[in-house]
Amino acid sequence: NPVYLNGRYLPVEEAHISVLDRGFLFGDGVYEVIPAYRGRLFEFEAHMARLDNSLAAVLIGNPHSLDEWRGILVPLLKGGTDQYVYLQITRGAAPKRDHLFPENIPPTVFAMSSPIPPYPERDTGIRAVCLEDSRWDNCHVKAITLLANVLLRQEASERGGAEAILVKNGFVTEGSSSNVFAVLNGVLVTPPLSRDILPGITRAVILKICRENHVSCREQSMTIDDLKQADEIWIASSVREVVPVVDLDGRAVGGGEPGPAWQQVNRLFQAYKQSVS
Ligand code: PMP
Repeated sequence: NPVYLNGRYLPVEEAHISVLDRGFLFGDGVYEVIPAYRGRLFEFEAHMARLDNSLAAVLIGNPHSLDEWRGILVPLLKGGTDQYVYLQITRGAAPKRDHLFPENIPPTVFAMSSPIPPYPERDTGIRAVCLEDSRWDNCHVKAITLLANVLLRQEASERGGAEAILVKNGFVTEGSSSNVFAVLNGVLVTPPLSRDILPGITRAVILKICRENHVSCREQSMTIDDLKQADEIWIASSVREVVPVVDLDGRAVGGGEPGPAWQQVNRLFQAYKQSVS
């Protein structure tokens, strides 16, 4: 499967970047992950709008138009299978290592596709653990600088969790690589957009399908104590979709099984996927 690097499609073994690339030296770049179901990019415009925002926030110009991006990514999709595209843009390779932005350096543009693996836990639920949110103050930017997320996810895994649910000043922000939803006193709630969370595309799709199907969902802050008393907890991301959390910090959530609200919204989500791909 070829990958895309700076205008060319190459076997992955032949795709090389400079050790002076600022992505490598500083984590100076942004990325996107876009699912493609049956060969069709899912919520493509929304992902590209978020990419624009990420690039603008870190002062990298978008090197391509929407149509150019589509032209770059579509050839990476093999056949009609379910895949996701990873794309990354860094500030480029400067002549020397210097924190200051280099002048007149083209960004490095990389993209590849991978099959979406089966994820049976989506139907059975996962365990999650709460951890203190140790990330920076610009979590709305999809930066490649993921060291805190990596460490948090690893710690969650070592404690038997498939996701870390992050808590900042007593409030739930999001997962280490997902957004969080909870059913609190019968009401579906997700934290509001802010600099503390990534504006997840899956989150936005859930809010849209809830609106269209008269399922009430509030964008509202929730405390760690709210979460501990939730009837249901879900995580949501492009790669994992909508996943029930059935155990939080070793205690059963709801009945310890995926709840009725998840059943309903997951069914709507799967139907939405089918309808647009
Ligand atoms: N928050 C974080 C920190 C993430 O890494 C992700 C996954 N990209 C998400 C939320 C979910 O975003 P999306 O639904 O767009 O995949």
